[in-house]
Amino acid sequence: MRFYNTLTRRLEEFREIEKGRIGLYTCGPTVYDFPHIGNFRSYVFEDLVKRFFRFSGFRVRHVMNITDIDDKTIRKANELGLPLGEVTRKYIDAFHVDLRTLNILPADVYPRATEHIPEMLQLVSALLAKGFAYKKEGSVYFSIERFKEYGRLANIDQGSLRTGAAVDADEYEKDAVQDFVLWKGRKAGEPFWPAAFGDGRPGWHIECSAMSMKYLGPHFDIHMGGVDNIFPHHENEIAQSECANGVKFVNYWLHCQHLIVDNRKMSKSLGNFFTLPDLLQRGADPMAVRYLLISTHYRKLLNFTFEGLEMAGQALQRVKNFAFSLKNVEAEGEADPELAAAAASSLEAFAASMADDFNVSGALGVMFDLIAAVNPRMNALTRKDAAVVREYLERVNSVLGVLEEKGEAALDAEIEERIRLRENARREKDFARADEIRAELKKQGIVLLDTPAGVKWKRE
Ligand code: AMP
Ligand code: ZN
Repeated sequence: MRFYNTLTRRLEEFREIEKGRIGLYTCGPTVYDFPHIGNFRSYVFEDLVKRFFRFSGFRVRHVMNITDIDDKTIRKANELGLPLGEVTRKYIDAFHVDLRTLNILPADVYPRATEHIPEMLQLVSALLAKGFAYKKEGSVYFSIERFKEYGRLANIDQGSLRTGAAVDADEYEKDAVQDFVLWKGRKAGEPFWPAAFGDGRPGWHIECSAMSMKYLGPHFDIHMGGVDNIFPHHENEIAQSECANGVKFVNYWLHCQHLIVDNRKMSKSLGNFFTLPDLLQRGADPMAVRYLLISTHYRKLLNFTFEGLEMAGQALQRVKNFAFSLKNVEAEGEADPELAAAAASSLEAFAASMADDFNVSGALGVMFDLIAAVNPRMNALTRKDAAVVREYLERVNSVLGVLEEKGEAALDAEIEERIRLRENARREKDFARADEIRAELKKQGIVLLDTPAGVKWKRE
């Protein structure tokens, strides 16, 4: 398996630290607002990577932090005049709902920054003791000139480092490279914790260094995030962790390109964003959203459009129809060894594409080729053949996660429940409601047939 390592700027063969196991850290949400689908492009890609490692036989320990204290969360709480914890709780809950809706596998741990202040204090103390940090006007800063490797991840020319100047904000641009804040001195209107080096609160970057180290150790395999995390966030994480621990922090850095709208990054500050509930309200199928987000290679910009979403939905529908037809195969008889061989080699090609820097388009192409080869023979398949192909589809979907993994029986039961509701509405002569339910089902590709023997349904 090989993929692009931001740290070395080349494709590298993956080698895990401990055989068969992977430590994975992904930067989680800053919970000052509802997440938008741009954020989810990164989270869904991270999920795809994790699923592929699991598919390939690795055990993955996945840690995703929750940034529940930083400049933005504090600003929001102050604007609303509410306690910080009350504001962040709401957005943490919403985040978890969206994760489930997008079929993102849960992380093993979701550490929150406010619950790891002692670990951060320890890290800042270590950096002060080793001379990598200094105190100034009640705050503590990291001295970038003390770390020779500073700028390596973001590929910053050492000549452009502005030593001596220090920045207090959590976020700043690459052309303002300077000493960054580890611990912010106590200010009116901000939460604070007591510390030997002065009361205050953590800077954003120290949070991820402290939490990744606690749950994955000082040296682990993979760290991910969106490309906007490369600088300053991940650059600063490396500086803090390596200087405090004296060992290499992370072997592989993987960054997901942005979701954009009209050539600009989808972001809260530009106001050009959609949340997942926004899209669902417009009738989008969450699995189509997931399909859309994964189908463009992670190192390419993805421009969000409703036409694109529609097309993703159509592609997904072809897969769903295929799965449905397989389910309905009833003929008895032997399995065709050639079909089994074709499915096995398709699965191999699918895995090979994914193993090549997560080439999803290639992998999807392989899957659609198999679908196109089997579809014309659908009527000639035996149940044993269908089982082979269904098993194939399940394996592929364990990586893509675009078909609901809910048991089909449960799905059928949901549809039948809706049909019962429609029957009730008709009995009560509420024909508008009955038509509405029929239209909703139609949108999901379910067609109702009113027959003398009652209502029957089928997938389009
Ligand atoms: P934040 O909540 O701003 O800290 O961002 C959470 C994650 O979403 C980070 O990994 C960001 O890099 C990522 N992210 C933010 N905006 C986008 C976008 N438009 N496209 C892809 N990833 C994004
Ligand atoms: Zn982080």
